[in-house]
Amino acid sequence: YYRRSWSSESSDSVISSESGSSCYRVVLIGEHGVGKSSLANIFAGVHDSIDSDCEVLGEDTYERALMVDGESATVILLDMWDNKHEGEWIRDHCMQVGDAYLIVYSITDRASFEKASELRIQLRRARQKEDIPIILVGNKSDLVRCREVSVAEGRACAVVFDCKFIETSAAVQHNVKELFEGIVRQVRLRRDSKEK
Ligand code: GDP
Ligand code: MG
Repeated sequence: YYRRSWSSESSDSVISSESGSSCYRVVLIGEHGVGKSSLANIFAGVHDSIDSDCEVLGEDTYERALMVDGESATVILLDMWDNKHEGEWIRDHCMQVGDAYLIVYSITDRASFEKASELRIQLRRARQKEDIPIILVGNKSDLVRCREVSVAEGRACAVVFDCKFIETSAAVQHNVKELFEGIVRQVRLRRDSKEK
């Protein structure tokens, strides 16, 4: 049985839980209103009817054990990018603490898509020389009639970003599980290639 083993004082980037599985800090970034918190809520299981195994560590930090490809992983999800009353330091903090990033835009909002490129550049600058796993996330895929960014554009952008791409809908819970499994796989790929 998994219990919380991570605390905010810890500065290790990858921490082992008591069960021996790896623990990854995943950070949600992107324009306000694109659906970051909605994705985080699904991750946290607030919509689950049965008792969820997610722990809420703080207002905007969630932790949950996931089974991916037969191997368990613990993901700590940070949704504090829009937490303005904490001041600008929070964004610098976000840029530093992630083991992996979900750069989210809305497919119904071209400005949010352009913002994603800016964030990619900021992240590259903040974490020079590090090969950080990133998924570019086109959310609100259910809003087909309001689409402003095509799937092809999203995909092409991810090629430039050198990262993975997925379209999700938090509203109808499409591809959300795949998104979180995908980021665990991306972290593992880099970990495994380092061990070689
Ligand atoms: P955040 O500011 O990035 O955290 O975005 P929120 O999660 O607060 O979502 C902003 C608004 O978009 C809310 O009204 C959500 O209900 C809505 N929203 C989020 N995800 C989706 C989605 O996948 N489809 C639709 N139709 N609406 C969404
Ligand atoms: Mg939010």
